[in-house]
Amino acid sequence: MVPALDTAACLATAWQVTPDLSLRVVVIGGIMALAGWSGAQRHFPGRHAFLGVHLMLALWIAGTTAEHAAVDAACKATIAVLAWPLILLQPALWALFLHQYVRGDNRAPPARTWVPAGVSFALLAACAWSNGQHGWLYGPATHLGEPILGLPRMRYDYGPAFYLGAAWAYGWLLSATLIIVHAIAKCAPEDRRQWQAFLVMMMVPWAANIAYLGFGLRLFGGDPTPLSFAVAVVGFAWLIRSSRLHKVVPLSRRLLFSALPDPVLVLDSLNRVVDCNTAGHDLAGRDMPRDLPLAQWPVFGAALAELLTHGEPGDGTLVLQAGTLVLDVRCRDMGEGPRRIGRLLQLRNVTERHLAQARLAAALAERDAQLLQVAQLEAELREQTLRDPLTGLHNRRALALHFARERQRPGAQGQPLTLALLDIDHFKHINDNFGHAAGDTVLQALGRLLSEGLRTSDVVYRVGGEEFALLMPQANAEQALQRLRVLRDTARGHPLRPDGAPVTFSAGIATCHDGQRTLDDLLRAADAALYAAKAAGRDRFVLEAPAPSPASGPAGAP
Ligand code: GH3
Ligand code: MG
Ligand code: MG
Repeated sequence: MVPALDTAACLATAWQVTPDLSLRVVVIGGIMALAGWSGAQRHFPGRHAFLGVHLMLALWIAGTTAEHAAVDAACKATIAVLAWPLILLQPALWALFLHQYVRGDNRAPPARTWVPAGVSFALLAACAWSNGQHGWLYGPATHLGEPILGLPRMRYDYGPAFYLGAAWAYGWLLSATLIIVHAIAKCAPEDRRQWQAFLVMMMVPWAANIAYLGFGLRLFGGDPTPLSFAVAVVGFAWLIRSSRLHKVVPLSRRLLFSALPDPVLVLDSLNRVVDCNTAGHDLAGRDMPRDLPLAQWPVFGAALAELLTHGEPGDGTLVLQAGTLVLDVRCRDMGEGPRRIGRLLQLRNVTERHLAQARLAAALAERDAQLLQVAQLEAELREQTLRDPLTGLHNRRALALHFARERQRPGAQGQPLTLALLDIDHFKHINDNFGHAAGDTVLQALGRLLSEGLRTSDVVYRVGGEEFALLMPQANAEQALQRLRVLRDTARGHPLRPDGAPVTFSAGIATCHDGQRTLDDLLRAADAALYAAKAAGRDRFVLEAPAPSPASGPAGAP
């Protein structure tokens, strides 16, 4: 017969009580109780897959029990065909549970794993349920064989789909086993015993299945594999429960790690990201797979890898600029002694702070520039108030300032300070004959001539229309007189007037020897001497009258 889905046969068949019925009922009840216990536990990674394992296992054992108990061959075949997908699903759920439990999170495996797994499972299940049409799972040689323990047993004619399904199931069982082996190899020393115990438990179904298929071992006349899985489930549940007690601390740390607002990445010695918290995935813009080289992470990976390669910070903080992002990177080496086995990277997104600082710096720079401008304007204005706009020479106000400054200069007390007042002779004629503008030009030219002809310590001021003052520190009257003569000679050599004639000027000279005289006093004395020079016929220099002797007149000088 070719086994096919025939539910009517199961409705019509008679049932026998199997000798191991009570044991199987107890096992199914135990598994369901265990499932209830697992469901009631606080969260542990892979819990849903673990509950799925319970359910599939209970259904599998229930199916084999019913298959044994049914008398009619068509009903037995129906149950066998129906249960086949459950048998297939069971090792896949084991692998999923261990994958999640070992990694400590509930994330589904990547789509590249579960999509082909799901499609191949659906094909195998469809193949089983449509076996009546093709016999690929159980072929036509399937028949009712010799009774075992008093119950008639089916002898199935395994078709290619059966072997394909068996390979599928063994593949998952092998994956589950390798996951545990990998965990043993990679885990912390204190966790190793737990994973070793997991491996031992995982060996139970392997041993039972190999013994059944290879050596014909039977339990109550049937396949011991489902019951061996039940033993493994109980063992796993016990191990999970006992390990959870000492997993509280790492779990709480894990929770804290996940909840940290700043991105944290753990790199292995090859700069692959072996762990990352939620903030890290968020910064990357999507959930990243583990063990991917840091340089392949989006947004900041390449720049950060580059920084770590060339920055070599050891345990320190670096600043990373990745596009518009600015990150503080705190890097800590992990390892025993000098051997580095990995690095812990704490990132802090400081883009906002950085932008604010940049804005502040720009505002401060702008303010500084404005202050500088104001200071320059102020200086310009101050300078303007001290300058005569026509000749560019210092003015009367500047003279007062400079005089006061000169008096305060250290060492100025014992030094003479001479002031000469100059007045252009008959300047009015120049204005009258050649115009006011020509007069201005003469004023400017004479101003230049005076400035250039003096020592650098002497200063020329324009103190009136065509009047100039000369302040000569550390010069006595005689020295001042000498300098004025030089200036006069220079003026004579330069035809400053529009008609080519030289400009002459008269001057009065006053000197302060003791540092006691005021500027007004000196100006008054120099003005009186100037007046005397004019009165004496112009184009001459007169020293101020000696103070104490009222009898002596002004001293003239050619
Ligand atoms: P004295 O020899 O007695 O000094 O005769 P003076 O003509 O030089 O003196 P006075 O005081 O009679 O005339 C001065 C003239 O200077 C009168 C005024 O118009 C002229 N003046 C004053 N300031 C300026 C100026 O800035 N530019 C020009 N072009 N002329 C000026
Ligand atoms: Mg005058
Ligand atoms: Mg004059």
